[in-house]
Amino acid sequence: MKTKRQIIRIDEAKCDGCGNCVTGCHEGALQVIDGKARLISDLLCDGLGACIGECPQGAIKIEERLAEPYDERKVMDGMVKHGPNTIKAHLKHLMDHGQKAFVK
Ligand code: SF4
Repeated sequence: MKTKRQIIRIDEAKCDGCGNCVTGCHEGALQVIDGKARLISDLLCDGLGACIGECPQGAIKIEERLAEPYDERKVMDGMVKHGPNTIKAHLKHLMDHGQKAFVK
């Protein structure tokens, strides 16, 4: 069920498709498709904005809107194939933002 929460928004006019945000998103929520970064699923975006600092164009912002809830299990399913360092980086990111419930 959708609820109002914080989630990223990509300004397509500013995005040049460099892909920095894709590698900066441990959750695997972003892909460059047809030359623009896309949030591929609301379920994968924790709304904590790790990607924002990766964008040289200032194309990513956090907004509050109706979205499917973040799904830590789904994120972890996709992350396992990237190996333990990616998982560690993701867990550190969650802890840095005080997201103890997700870490648990
Ligand atoms: S880092 Fe910014 S400019 Fe590069 S693909 Fe992502 S949103 Fe687009």
